[in-house]
Amino acid sequence: MSRIFKHDPDPLELKELFSSDEKCLKFLAEAKWKDGYVCRKCGNTNHCPGKTPYSRRCTKCKTEESATAGTIFHNCKFPVHKAFYIAWIVCKGKEEVSTYEFARRLSLRQMTCWNFKTKIRQALNEMDSLTENERESIQRIFQ
Ligand SMILES: [Zn+2]
Repeated sequence: MSRIFKHDPDPLELKELFSSDEKCLKFLAEAKWKDGYVCRKCGNTNHCPGKTPYSRRCTKCKTEESATAGTIFHNCKFPVHKAFYIAWIVCKGKEEVSTYEFARRLSLRQMTCWNFKTKIRQALNEMDSLTENERESIQRIFQ
């Protein structure tokens, strides 16, 4: 999860992230491969575009990695820009938004919001095991 937050979006970029799946995937891909692409399977550094937007496919072993793989947005059952919105509010921690309220704002089922919110909370708890630097970069973006 931490790797998502190394890149700081400005307010305008945030607004776009909250309304466009494509922008979210682009954001995730940029954050994930900021230091260059390395295939998780074989270590190859050459890639070509994958099947889904902003995914990358290893030119050697053909393993494809999506922009969301390895992040809390992986296997998300609803639009990723809505998940981004929930993640932002929960992590930012300044506004207490109930899962009912998330459901209303995003036109999602309350249970869907509850499940995702729980997932974020768990990820945040796991952050206790992160290094000081990683934690700082997360706090910086969500303030
Ligand atoms: Zn490979």
